[in-house]
Amino acid sequence: MLSYDVCECGAPLQRVERDTPTPKGTDVVLRVMAAGVCHSDLHIWDGYYDIGGGQKLKLQDRGVKLPLTMGHENVGEVIAVGPEAKGVSVGDVRLIHPWMGCGDCVVCRRGEENLCVKPCSVGIHRGGGFATHLVVPHPRYLFDIGSLSPERAAPLACSGVTAYGALKKVSDTVAEEPVVMIGAGGVGLMALALHKKMGGKGAIVVDIDPAKREAALKAGAAHVIDGAAKDVAEQVRAATGGGSWATIDFVGAGPTVKLGVDTAIKGGKVIVVGLFGGDVVIPTPFFPMKALTVQGSYVGSLNEIAELLDLVNRKGAPDVPVATRPLDQVNAALNDLRDGKIIGRVVVTP
Ligand SMILES: [Zn+2]
Ligand SMILES: [Zn+2]
Repeated sequence: MLSYDVCECGAPLQRVERDTPTPKGTDVVLRVMAAGVCHSDLHIWDGYYDIGGGQKLKLQDRGVKLPLTMGHENVGEVIAVGPEAKGVSVGDVRLIHPWMGCGDCVVCRRGEENLCVKPCSVGIHRGGGFATHLVVPHPRYLFDIGSLSPERAAPLACSGVTAYGALKKVSDTVAEEPVVMIGAGGVGLMALALHKKMGGKGAIVVDIDPAKREAALKAGAAHVIDGAAKDVAEQVRAATGGGSWATIDFVGAGPTVKLGVDTAIKGGKVIVVGLFGGDVVIPTPFFPMKALTVQGSYVGSLNEIAELLDLVNRKGAPDVPVATRPLDQVNAALNDLRDGKIIGRVVVTP
């Protein structure tokens, strides 16, 4: 098998050849058909998250070891199954739920492996899809993609379930109140598409990039606002009729979280999804006085992946631009993503 690995933080991925693995126990070996390139790959590649004030949260201190094959949005065809792997056969095409935990704790047994304190995620803690093959430790992480193409299905594993998990946290108001979405990158556009399928009322999108605002309008946003405008907060208040009930921040920078908090109405929720980095000061009286909820949302659970695939198979694939590139161009794809040149999603195919 062939993979493109991070051997040194921030340095170009290296082409590595090794033996194709043989499955043991409940293992399943898949031939990668499509692997999405995600913003969080940039953080993993760099080896840290910016946590504000010049501080870095190092991924090496959080169990990430090099060399690493990144790629956590994968669809593959099953080519070999271990003797104890049940319910999956050679030839099956499956989406891989990448957010694996220890599989053993109370959280994992609830199906919320994405919140396990001992994560073992594909493309972060274990080998991912920027490769010709990958191994999944148990068939429970594999999901039938129905009528979707591998390229359309792959982004559902991160971008899709992240958007879905965030939207579910504001689902109590989604039919009556507009959702304010900050950031129309890959996950933001995915959220716009899913929001419509979930019966959501017109979304208001804030982005500093005119091309991304344009893409958001095409994807069905009811209204777009320039995030760099001096009066952006006033514009959000005006567009929401006084303040937002539900804001999802797909950027997660200090100023974007602050915008969410500043424009929340009484009882409003701000869901922080993006990992751009930074910090924010929130006056503590705002929490009780505004009955404010600020909640983080991290990818999604096994149940949420199943619900999302059900939604998409009933209502059609999210209309997010997807471009495919050959696997050997994965370095170029990552660099273009870093330079903000990608609208929607890039998927690499071996
Ligand atoms: Zn991702
Ligand atoms: Zn666990």
